[in-house]
Amino acid sequence: MDPNPADLLLTGGSVRTVDDAGTLAEAVAIKDGRIAAVGRASDVARLAGPKTRVIELEGQTVLPGFQDAHLHPLDGGLLAVVCNLHETDSADECLDVIARYAGEHPDRDWITGDGWSMDFFEGGNPDKERLDAVVSDRPVYLENRDGHTAWVNSRALELAGIDAACPDPPDGRIQRGPDGEPSGALHEGAMRLVEDLAPPPTQDELEQAFRNAQAELHALGITAWQDAVVTAATLPAYLAVAERGEVTMHVEGNLLWDRTRGDEQIEDLLALRERGNLGRVRIRGAKIFVDGVLENFTGALLEPYVGTDNLGMAMHDAEELVRMVTLLDSHGFQVHMHTIGDRAVRDALDAVEAAQSANGRRDARHHLAHIQLVHPDDHPRFGELDVVANAQPYWAAASRYVNELTLPFIGPERARYHYPFGSLHRAGARLAFGSDWTVSTADPLAQIEVAVTRVEHPNRDTEPLLADEALDLDTAVAAFTRGSAYVNFLEDETGTIEPGKLADLIVLDRDIFDPGAGPIGDARVVLTLAEGEAVHDAL
Ligand SMILES: [Zn+2]
Repeated sequence: MDPNPADLLLTGGSVRTVDDAGTLAEAVAIKDGRIAAVGRASDVARLAGPKTRVIELEGQTVLPGFQDAHLHPLDGGLLAVVCNLHETDSADECLDVIARYAGEHPDRDWITGDGWSMDFFEGGNPDKERLDAVVSDRPVYLENRDGHTAWVNSRALELAGIDAACPDPPDGRIQRGPDGEPSGALHEGAMRLVEDLAPPPTQDELEQAFRNAQAELHALGITAWQDAVVTAATLPAYLAVAERGEVTMHVEGNLLWDRTRGDEQIEDLLALRERGNLGRVRIRGAKIFVDGVLENFTGALLEPYVGTDNLGMAMHDAEELVRMVTLLDSHGFQVHMHTIGDRAVRDALDAVEAAQSANGRRDARHHLAHIQLVHPDDHPRFGELDVVANAQPYWAAASRYVNELTLPFIGPERARYHYPFGSLHRAGARLAFGSDWTVSTADPLAQIEVAVTRVEHPNRDTEPLLADEALDLDTAVAAFTRGSAYVNFLEDETGTIEPGKLADLIVLDRDIFDPGAGPIGDARVVLTLAEGEAVHDAL
């Protein structure tokens, strides 16, 4: 027996180490929160002592903990507080939930929430009339699933002074009827006109949101997350829970570049970054919205939307983006850019290239999230510039959303490079995966299933979206573990199962690499270890 026995031993399963050689082991031993040994069951068994907890895996799979490279965890945790429309499937269901929520919360001056879907409404645009019919006494502000459009009632429009005479803001659009009157949908920057009037969540609610999200995501096997947008309002909540030692998740945070302000905001971003380092919480990134989304024609395109002369909405012109990225890069920020359309992707890559020539090349790991349309000429540039392709694989399926609200407006030519994750991988791009929760499910296994099938989950009888762009399972698992660890600057400590690394590990109820084990998205995480501590245990 070893004089220094392990605390925990997982044995008799398939241990997918995701290391450089793709080593498949049978057992792993954990001591003081770190991986003490990985290998054959008979070798690792020598580390067992009288007090060692031994878990017989019986064919189950061990993987490194998943790391979500782009999500909105506090929004997810707040769903328990606000009007949650994420489980609905139609406009009528939304209206039922809203009416019930309003009835149960007579004390709330505003009804706020999110989760409706654009495909519930003609042309993607909800109307104020049906909302007025269920709530007319109080303002209502409800964001859609992707957070780029809000549905508001007449009371909210009135409070914000939005009427036929009110012009669109430069970075957004007020949806209007034929008479020019606002019809109830606000896109992009127009959302702020109402959102800024609604009461923000309290610090207590945000701390509770953190706890809710951490528990929910640990249960899905997630051990590190990159919060796409940390603000001066949410940072204190993170620091409070970190101060109390409640954080078991590795948290990377991005500060939002406020497009209504200029370069002088760098001082505020630097001050927030300075404060944002406590325990497992770290602020390293700055987030820039380069464009909007295709469904409301605000995704920035190289050629116009089909049948129009509209090129979408670049939130910053190309020179301005170069200046911002160069400035952030010169201050050591990791720049995380929202890029949907092919013009947004190109402008973002150009900006990184310009920043590298101005500031010199450093280990910056800038990344582009979403990458829905990427022109083939730009595929090799990710690898060349070491820009990480931060993909949301769950969206890469022929859903009603894609078929009705996207494909008709991008046309057949661009449809060939729609979520081109396979091509990016083959062209040498480093892939990281993220859910964009609460935009869509946070479950990494469901997302991995779509990455390898390109078929909608859970509607598995539909056609794949560009089957050539599917990834093999090893690549998809690597993207959600070591790939995201890279973009989180955590790869020295996590992301693979190797001796000396932190024991951020998960156990799945089956071997997802066995084709006979059923759909990948049906697999469940039965154990999640964060630095050796069981933070989810359903064994
Ligand atoms: Zn996002």
